Amino acid sequence: MAQSVSCNSCAYYEDHIANSTKVAENAGLCRFNPPVTQPEPNARGLWPVVTASDWCGHFSTETRN
Ligand code: SF4
Repeated sequence: MAQSVSCNSCAYYEDHIANSTKVAENAGLCRFNPPVTQPEPNARGLWPVVTASDWCGHFSTETRN
């Protein structure tokens, strides 16, 4: 049986949200890359938000630690 390749089963997917309290349903954070935006000089960067059914070419079941 083929493995499900989606953020929901990826090692880099985090299903609790740290960016804000306003989140899309069935969404989480991708932790593959560091935060990508910094809205203001004194603000922290934001982790990319993805949905559980998204996917990308970096999908993995293990992290590179
Ligand atoms: S965007 Fe890619 S690396 Fe990030 S959680 Fe989804 S499949 Fe994994």
